[in-house]
Amino acid sequence: MKYALVLVNITGLGVKTFSYLIPEELKDIIKIGQPVLVPFGRRGLVNAFIVGFSDYLPGEFTPKKISKILDEKPLFSLKYLKLLEWVANYYCTDLVTVINMAIPEKFIEMSSKVSKTIEFVSKDGATKRQLQILENLESVGKYSLNKFLKEFKTTLPTIKKMADSGFLKITDEEVYRNPLSIFKDIKTEPLYELSGEQERVYQEISAKMRSQKPLLLHGITASGKTEVYFRLIKDVIDSGKNVLFLAPEIALASQLTKRLARKFGIEDVAIWHSSISEGEKYDVWKRLYDDKVKILAGVRSAVFAPLNNIGLIIVDEEHESAYKQSNPAPRYDAKTVAQRLAQFHQAPILLGSATPDISTYYFASNNNNLFELHKRFNNHPPAKTKVINMQEYGKASYKGIISKPLQTEITKTLEENHQVILLLNRRGFSTSTQCQACGHVIECPDCSIPMIWHHTDKILKCHYCNKIMPFPDICPNCGSDALRNTGVGTQKIEVLVKELYPDARIARIDSDILVRKNAHIELLNKFQAGEIDILIGTQMIAKGLDNPNVTLVGVLSADAGFSLPDFRASERGFQLLTQVAGRSGRGQEQGQVIFQSYNPSYYAFESAKEQNYESFYAKELKLRQEYDYPPFSQIIRLIISSENNFRAEKSAMEIGMRFSQMTDKHGFSEYLEILGPSPCIIEKISNKYRFQILIKNKLSQKGHQFVSSFLNKIIMPKDIKLAVDVDPLDIL
Ligand code: ADP
Ligand code: ZN
Ligand code: ZN
Repeated sequence: MKYALVLVNITGLGVKTFSYLIPEELKDIIKIGQPVLVPFGRRGLVNAFIVGFSDYLPGEFTPKKISKILDEKPLFSLKYLKLLEWVANYYCTDLVTVINMAIPEKFIEMSSKVSKTIEFVSKDGATKRQLQILENLESVGKYSLNKFLKEFKTTLPTIKKMADSGFLKITDEEVYRNPLSIFKDIKTEPLYELSGEQERVYQEISAKMRSQKPLLLHGITASGKTEVYFRLIKDVIDSGKNVLFLAPEIALASQLTKRLARKFGIEDVAIWHSSISEGEKYDVWKRLYDDKVKILAGVRSAVFAPLNNIGLIIVDEEHESAYKQSNPAPRYDAKTVAQRLAQFHQAPILLGSATPDISTYYFASNNNNLFELHKRFNNHPPAKTKVINMQEYGKASYKGIISKPLQTEITKTLEENHQVILLLNRRGFSTSTQCQACGHVIECPDCSIPMIWHHTDKILKCHYCNKIMPFPDICPNCGSDALRNTGVGTQKIEVLVKELYPDARIARIDSDILVRKNAHIELLNKFQAGEIDILIGTQMIAKGLDNPNVTLVGVLSADAGFSLPDFRASERGFQLLTQVAGRSGRGQEQGQVIFQSYNPSYYAFESAKEQNYESFYAKELKLRQEYDYPPFSQIIRLIISSENNFRAEKSAMEIGMRFSQMTDKHGFSEYLEILGPSPCIIEKISNKYRFQILIKNKLSQKGHQFVSSFLNKIIMPKDIKLAVDVDPLDIL
């Protein structure tokens, strides 16, 4: 090959690929994934990565030569790049966008730097200035060259000269700052002995480890799924292979990592998520690439960490929407990518959940890959559920929101020194601010949704674009002073609960408290330690919490969510109610769950009340089939947006028309059904008018290819944006 395709990260230009000539002397050693130096116009030499080879140039120009290979050891493999290419293809985006997301931004610049360390040797015969530097070095011991230069304000030539004179040594050895050092005091302990049911499932799954289709472990909350995973992990690492373990969010991934470290030792475990520093990421990346990690735990982005030699991928809480990146592109779903990754490694993928995704459950049961845990590990009965029909109790409730029976149970629970969780999946104080005289609702000027009052900050906020505004004195429509906050959010619940239980220790967790990073983790820890009596929150508190002292869960508005105009609304609602119910009665004491509802006979709600996944699945699947929604089709969503309403609409119509023509021509119109274009349910976000086209693909891969080659040919005018979302999370 004559030319190499390299990836650079240039300030102002972003991450891009360019072609360079490969000098004769490098031809034998150059490899994909190596960091190199290349000349780049007026910027001189810049760092880059080799990402491909070719015998031809993509256009007519005289290519420059690669100057130097910085490190013969690549940072990723061809296989890895192939995975990224697949992602780009599947999600209808380009490779650079995917690389940009997968490889941490700073790596491209750091590749050559971090690996050098310096070490003190001797200070005999040093000058006064040199002595100063050497004393610093002596006191810190072995140190990263880069950091030393910065922290001790010295320069590379000075250090090099001192190395030449034998005062210190510069080596290429890496220092790993293990991000798990916080767990360093953890004592390892043996795996638990499995219960009969766990053992059975473990054996069943072990027998299926060669399956190329996803395995599903469906186990009710606290059935001990994690312990089953651990046994499987042990077998895989004993056989010399590695394990990727995904969790939906940072808090859960951290908890899990701690558990893994306890069982398998911190040496073999690494963690990957967006909150670890770039330096730590770099170190973990190197450890992974050098095959020094046996178990990598992380959130969705960990699917792109270069773990080698994978023998098993586990995706816990697989139904969680956090596995999917909705914005920006690539709009990938880590679960889908993980499946592909497993295929690359010919490794099994095991998905786990108490409330599996309808599609996952459908495919797993059809493939005979479904394994179930029916009982809680400690044989404790699941929490009892009770439904309060708010049509009857609403009037007698506190401010129309907290019913009498729920109040009684809260009081009782507090008296018994147990803890309470109250869920309302809506943050802010209210749901809208409305004029009682003319009915006008205050909307965000840039988005077509109501502004929401935030009591804590005394401000109206838009939950889509974060725009804020003060509470208007008078109605902008009729001028009356009858503007009122209507509906409830978590902040209002907090106020009401404090009024009802002035002596209780009360805290609230929703995304509004995240202005302070990790604030929710602190609160969760306090709750765990028994320092909070009543925890109020959104879906952020519905999962993962394993606090044996919680015996009451109250869901204040259990129907909220079911009514969203989205084909997944019932599934989401059901999952949320089941998950939150699973937080109650995990210890010795029998737990209970109280659902307040205005619509107790709704099918998804009935199943949630009975904690019956199968009955929900059966009913939901029927509806999906009737309307050709997943798993009976694949949805590809096109969002066309522009500041100009008319142009956005026109453009959407054009795309829709061309697509219909194409499918007609190929005789596919029955299998590639097109819905719309129509205004999105949220018609405007951040001042951009939005139109959508939904494509229901019933031809699986073939249909997908058809759509993506159609999309590849579309060139959009500058003022109109086309976003493609394959397998979208919602269609709002
Ligand atoms: P799940 O992942 O299904 O929600 P976990 O695996 O977290 O459940 O188990 C719930 C609790 O029961 C945990 O505290 C776990 O350590 C404990 N547990 C589960 N299985 C066993 C076992 N075989 N022996 C001892 N403790 C167990
Ligand atoms: Zn008004
Ligand atoms: Zn807005």
